[in-house]
Amino acid sequence: TLQQLERSLQSLDNKSYNALKSIQGNYQTDLDNTLFIDYVQGDPFAAPSRIRFRIPLSSTDLTFTDMEEYHRLVAAKHFFSKEFTFEKDKKKNPVRGTGKSGMIFIDTPGQEVIERSAVAITEKYIEFRISCGIPANGRKISGKQAANLLCRIIPSIAEATLENYRRSNFQESLEVADNQVFIRKKMSENGLTAFVSNGSVLPRESGHSNRPLPEKEAVPFHSPKVWEYTFTLTNGRKITGMGIKRGVTLIVGGGYHGKSTLLKAIERGVYNHEKGDGREYVLADSSAVKIRAEDDRSIRNVNISPFINELPMQKKTDQFSSADASGSTSQAAGIMEALEMKSRVLLMDEDTSATNFMIRDARMQKLVKKEKEPITPFIDRIRDLYEQHGVSTILVLGGSGDYFDVADYVVMMDEYRPFDKTKEAKELVNSVETIREKENPITFPETLNRHFPKKIIENKLDRKGKIQARGLHQISIGKNSLPLHAVEQLISESQTEAIAMILKKIIKQNENASTEELIDGIYKSIEEEGLESVSPFAGQHPGNLALPRKFEIAAALNRIRD
Ligand code: ADP
Ligand code: MG
Repeated sequence: TLQQLERSLQSLDNKSYNALKSIQGNYQTDLDNTLFIDYVQGDPFAAPSRIRFRIPLSSTDLTFTDMEEYHRLVAAKHFFSKEFTFEKDKKKNPVRGTGKSGMIFIDTPGQEVIERSAVAITEKYIEFRISCGIPANGRKISGKQAANLLCRIIPSIAEATLENYRRSNFQESLEVADNQVFIRKKMSENGLTAFVSNGSVLPRESGHSNRPLPEKEAVPFHSPKVWEYTFTLTNGRKITGMGIKRGVTLIVGGGYHGKSTLLKAIERGVYNHEKGDGREYVLADSSAVKIRAEDDRSIRNVNISPFINELPMQKKTDQFSSADASGSTSQAAGIMEALEMKSRVLLMDEDTSATNFMIRDARMQKLVKKEKEPITPFIDRIRDLYEQHGVSTILVLGGSGDYFDVADYVVMMDEYRPFDKTKEAKELVNSVETIREKENPITFPETLNRHFPKKIIENKLDRKGKIQARGLHQISIGKNSLPLHAVEQLISESQTEAIAMILKKIIKQNENASTEELIDGIYKSIEEEGLESVSPFAGQHPGNLALPRKFEIAAALNRIRD
């Protein structure tokens, strides 16, 4: 029981920190809650201890059937991990000491509502997965303080969370989740790749903050009439916004008129956002992938020949590898890798694209003959992608009217408001002639059909076999680092953490599988056994994990150097 733990901790007072390992185990409270001490840190400065606090659902006013549907469960877990932090911050924590003494942490999500391991909810209980610093004085155990932290403070935060949680916010977050699922269904019925509701606030507070720009500074989104869709939600409420249809959509407009901000919102719309984000009803096809130039990245065995052919020195491009790719080759590889994972929508922004990959105008075609130019620009492939593969593109490009020829829809951003300029753009195609020639290359290959060489991971491991996430944008494999800074739809460190664990699982899978098969295998086990199944500590505090999309897992695999 918790009293026994309290006595043990008091008797450990002033003993060497090692002795704390003896408290690992589970402890019952008077209220029938359970404290699990899964892992005790090695010393006060080391990675914190991992504990769980479990409360039976029967002693709360929660009803499991209200949260049973997957999207509701994800929303409920998201809500309660934030609510725990909210409750924690209300109270003063008197516990002090050396190192991490007294620290209490739960993996609090950002505004994206995605599957996470920080809170578990089952038919029987709700459980918080907490990291904490068990108090020390120098390197000696502070027994009294430790007892206070583990036996009083943490239980009382968890219990207070379930007592005080803001009921109406909770109901609202479940409803928002319902609405998002509903709109996504309507989007696919209507052939939409993206939906941006009227009134959405797209701009962020700053380049370093994901919070919305304050209401009085932001111009709320408003759809042009022609692209307006109105959906009647299950509660009778109507929601209206701009639908972007499948096909090729061009976003044009003057510099600083909000083009990239719109695309960024769509890019993030692969995830659902919580109320208050400003983009809770900005939704995109969940397979949409942001494609960008990323020079210096490594590329392994990708057929980029639809875009790049006949490189100098007769370097082959149907199985292209590079330790140090250029802007254009990296962008081409990004597209082929997205197709390999069955993306249905590509998102591109001029700000992060290689110019020579995007355009090649009439004069340049005359000066540099096709035989001397390995690149077939994207403008000559964008329709093939759609017509041969059903892959839509949403493209921000303010600098070239050549794209009017190939676009199905032209959106112009003007002072942060979108306008339909399709008709005018198409008229210009006829009235302002370009003498640009369409470059007509080989047809697109069906798939990449590559095997993933697991050896490239194994060879990098040291004796301990460590693969570790280091913040949002990096994973270390042994002593090697795998940079993910250009993987723009990776949004949480906990996703990176999960990817690191997934890499470990992948080495154990079938030798001859393709990247897609490997990732599908991982997803299948996540579906059956939960996100925690990727953790070596499944069944206990599994670490701080969030579910990555398969595209971001692939992005990591594809960037591992030989
Ligand atoms: P572009 O890509 O067209 O050059 P950006 O999307 O980068 O323009 O936007 C330029 C600036 O305007 C950014 O600082 C952005 O935060 C701000 N901004 C974008 N959309 C809005 C909006 N709806 N209301 C207020 N400010 C906005
Ligand atoms: Mg821009």
